[in-house]
Amino acid sequence: MAWDFETEPDFQEKLDWIDSFVKHKVEPLVHLGFHPADVKNPKHRAIVKPLQEEVKAKGLWACHLGPELGGKGYGQVKLGLMNEILGRSAFAPTVFGCQAPDTGNAEIIAHYGTGDQKAKYLEPLLNNEIVSAFSMTEPQGGSDPLLFTCSAVEDGDEWVINGEKWFSTNARWSEFLIVMAVTDPDGDPYRRMSMFIVPTKTPGVEIVRDVAVYGQQEGSEGYVRYTDVRVPKDHLLGERGGAFVISQTRLGGGRIHHAMRTVGACKRALDLMCRRAASRRTRDGVIADKQAVQMQIADSYMELEQFRLYVLKTAWMIDKYKDYKKVRKDIAAIKALMPKVYRDIAGRALHIHGSLGVSPEMPFAAQVIGSFVMGIADGPTEVHKVTVARQHMREYRNISDPIFPDYSIPQLKEAALETYGDIADTVRELAETAGAD
Ligand SMILES: Cc1cc2nc3c(=O)[nH]c(=O)nc-3n(C[C@H](O)[C@H](O)[C@H](O)COP(=O)(O)OP(=O)(O)OC[C@H]3O[C@@H](n4cnc5c(N)ncnc54)[C@H](O)[C@@H]3O)c2cc1C
Repeated sequence: MAWDFETEPDFQEKLDWIDSFVKHKVEPLVHLGFHPADVKNPKHRAIVKPLQEEVKAKGLWACHLGPELGGKGYGQVKLGLMNEILGRSAFAPTVFGCQAPDTGNAEIIAHYGTGDQKAKYLEPLLNNEIVSAFSMTEPQGGSDPLLFTCSAVEDGDEWVINGEKWFSTNARWSEFLIVMAVTDPDGDPYRRMSMFIVPTKTPGVEIVRDVAVYGQQEGSEGYVRYTDVRVPKDHLLGERGGAFVISQTRLGGGRIHHAMRTVGACKRALDLMCRRAASRRTRDGVIADKQAVQMQIADSYMELEQFRLYVLKTAWMIDKYKDYKKVRKDIAAIKALMPKVYRDIAGRALHIHGSLGVSPEMPFAAQVIGSFVMGIADGPTEVHKVTVARQHMREYRNISDPIFPDYSIPQLKEAALETYGDIADTVRELAETAGAD
């Protein structure tokens, strides 16, 4: 029976190396004033490239990929254990070659791209020589692709794209955008859109502005306008009408990777919370001795352990079934749980640090905003809860109980008597006989 919570010693050695490397060499990068996606920045090249080489030499580069694409094919459980460490730093995924949104974009080009598309875009993307953006959400469409209007129309040997996209992460640094556009407005709702690879320099691609997530120094979320943007026919990614299926392939993996990194971010918040609780003194001792503070530490520890185990179990299921569809309910469930667990733990860490906690001198306010991002990006929590409920209800689809169902106590009692009534009668008779003697 395989039901094991231990890490193999060989892999634990790798995790120990990652832990120390991230702590000493990667965590400092966020203080140097350049963005992880700004790969053409000379500082990025001078500082990040050598670190990436170290990771490659250790055989830990792009571990989310299978061996056919230069990864190790570790699978999701090992990746989960790695991502828990990488989640501590915004730079770590870039240093280890597994940064969003490039991971998802590489995944779909690898899956659906032609030989030419792979040669031109996949190789440099996997090497982090370039970065990419995923341009799906629209200002008016939000999380519902059926409301999207950005269109692509055939014209001779080209597609002509018109429309607007919102929050296309890293658009400003991207070499290309993967754009989801309506190609068959009157078609089946789930076949009306297609995906295109659009080089960012194509005439007509305009970044209206770079929106920042609150607290960010540089806006990384592109508000992008496409005006008569012409791309050759071979820039269609996958088949015409295939955008919905392609985006699902992409988002399944992305969501669990976010959850794995969130475990890391929560661990860091809890660690800092405990350090402060052990250090901050009141007139009668440290605050860790106060029951009210202990409650917050205990709640954080318990919530994190539950969440972590659920993320790892879901990762294990992906490895087992090798089919995201079979794990849809649990991926949606961890996506829905993630913002609350993160918000509660980061919020308590902030609170335990008092005034210092709310200042930008501590990471907690950014983490609390980050927790809200986790509840919005890749679809709002409500939508994922609906998925969990619908998937779960599938098991009950054929049930239609009467008003007094067979689990009501009177019926259960009757059934129990039917099963054990004879024995009960016999025992009573024996007891009466014994009493008569
Ligand atoms: C940091 C960040 C990065 C992102 N990166 C990208 C990216 O790279 N590419 C990209 O295409 N998009 C990206 N997005 C956009 C993201 O996919 C959308 O923000 C998300 O789908 C929600 O759309 P919206 O922001 O328009 O919110 P809305 O759709 O307006 O939703 C707002 C609120 O309405 C409620 N709501 C909406 N729909 C429902 C529903 N069906 N049931 C119940 N309640 C509902 C929820 O409370 C929800 O939070 C990113 C978002 C963030 C925050």
